[in-house]
Amino acid sequence: MQLDRSTTWPYVRGEPGEFYYQRYAHPTGVAAERALGELDGGEALLFSSGAGATTAVVLALLNPGDTIALAEGCYYGTGVLFRELERWGLRHVEFDQTGPPPNGAQLVWLEAPSNPFLTMPDFEAAAAHPAPVLVDATAATPIHLRPLERGADLVLHSATKYLGGHADVLLGAVVCRDPQTAERLREFRSRSGIVAAPDAAWLLLRGLKTLELRVRRQTETAAELARRLEAHPKVETVRYAGFGGLLSFDVAGDARKVETSTRLITNATSLGGVESLIETRHRWEGDRVPENLLRLSVGLEDVEELWADLEQALSS
Ligand code: PLP
Repeated sequence: MQLDRSTTWPYVRGEPGEFYYQRYAHPTGVAAERALGELDGGEALLFSSGAGATTAVVLALLNPGDTIALAEGCYYGTGVLFRELERWGLRHVEFDQTGPPPNGAQLVWLEAPSNPFLTMPDFEAAAAHPAPVLVDATAATPIHLRPLERGADLVLHSATKYLGGHADVLLGAVVCRDPQTAERLREFRSRSGIVAAPDAAWLLLRGLKTLELRVRRQTETAAELARRLEAHPKVETVRYAGFGGLLSFDVAGDARKVETSTRLITNATSLGGVESLIETRHRWEGDRVPENLLRLSVGLEDVEELWADLEQALSS
């Protein structure tokens, strides 16, 4: 796919053709949406970031006074954004996603697995709720989970993470089961301008070519590291969903010391890239997470080298 950065295309015989102004659609974005839509089994739309995709979904599909049932312990920034939107009449209530969502909500928001607690939703209980169900499947990716096949109506990805995969593109996506919802979101996206640039879409297309290889290898390594961490005397708890490259663990000592002692694993935020990252989440999320919790995003490095690095950091 050739990258086309045009913001405007000539009219065809005096009328707008398929592409005419970049905010409405561009060829690279359409190609990337087609590829992601096939992976998730629905109609995909790209946004400027995962948070931008979240903003577009709630502003386009909900009304002032509506309530979102939000999975507790999901990505911290999602709850912060919903609190920001309270001024516009949007409410949210948190619930334990391993059970049924509460009554009276107009949208159910799940995360699979949740970041950084790694819980999985009860898909059946959510599908039985009368409201539409959205699953943020950023950490699972379509390689491990296709939420539309589990009764969800919408899938959200921070494509910044595994889908892009190389920590060099900020991008979000929503995949819709129903074409009318996709059309409503597309209209809102064009009007609001929460759009993805052609360069970002091109990087997504490149990332998708290796998605399966990367995610399978990250799962293999993360599962092995989770097993070894479980048995480590300085580790109190390991949270791992059993698939994917994301895990978190609580240490018996000073977690800040551990995160600043790794040499191969970078002490930085985010997840889903080819290089492993570790950080304490307490600095961002406060008492919502234990002070001694470390989140580890497993990259493509050799498992023995990663384990050696974790061992030396844990004994520092
Ligand atoms: N959803 C999850 C699960 C995330 O981890 C993140 C980012 O950390 C987001 C959404 C927001 O995505 P972005 O950073 O691309 O705006």
